[in-house]
Amino acid sequence: MKRNEFIKISSIAGLSLAIFPQFSFKKFSEEFSRSQLIGKGNPDIVGNTYTSKMHKTAKVAFKEMKAAAAKENINIEVVSAYRSFQRQKQIFEGKYKRFTKQGLTPEDALNKIIEYSTIPGTSRHHWGTDIDLIDANAPRPADVLLPENFHGTGPYCKLKMWLDENAEKFNFYEVYTDNGNRKGFKYEPWHFSYAPVSVAMLKEYKEKIDVKKMLAEEKLLGAENFSDAFILKYKEENILDINPKLLP
Ligand SMILES: [Zn+2]
Repeated sequence: MKRNEFIKISSIAGLSLAIFPQFSFKKFSEEFSRSQLIGKGNPDIVGNTYTSKMHKTAKVAFKEMKAAAAKENINIEVVSAYRSFQRQKQIFEGKYKRFTKQGLTPEDALNKIIEYSTIPGTSRHHWGTDIDLIDANAPRPADVLLPENFHGTGPYCKLKMWLDENAEKFNFYEVYTDNGNRKGFKYEPWHFSYAPVSVAMLKEYKEKIDVKKMLAEEKLLGAENFSDAFILKYKEENILDINPKLLP
């Protein structure tokens, strides 16, 4: 492509992004590998720690959002960002062992785990687009990621109100919204996703990843107990019953 043509096309793309952000997310086209989609390696992840590792494009937008919030005396702190398959596997298998040792059937153990944790290979944190946020300027409760901290008289009310008002301007969207009709993961007022990349990743995830096959291939502890019905329900509710603005 000639340079002037490229400039013309990219400025039109930039304009449509400003006017129709949703429309553009659906147009975002990139090929993601299986490894990228399930958290087993991603050259686009930058950063060194579990609170700073993020998709490079999401990180640029995050820094802009953080700078804007700082003007209102809110110090946005990431408590969790990119999480690898391996890390999620440790969390999952640790709980699975503990719950089955306590006498739960494999099926009950699974259902208990997925109240709060994802099955490895299915976490949005694998993508580097999703982050859990608190306000470092507020008094820090013992357990930071609880909905009550973000409402009523909780320490993160100011952050929550600011994010409700401003996060979407930076293309960050709440994933697990407070919608009584929503199934799957419970309300998480701290979990935000950078839509321009995550919508495209979810689209490819749906097309490319056979969750049951992937779990068998990865030899996840307890995977033999995942029925087809369980996987189907998990996909429909935990993976896809999210903020509709984040659906491809
Ligand atoms: Zn999260």
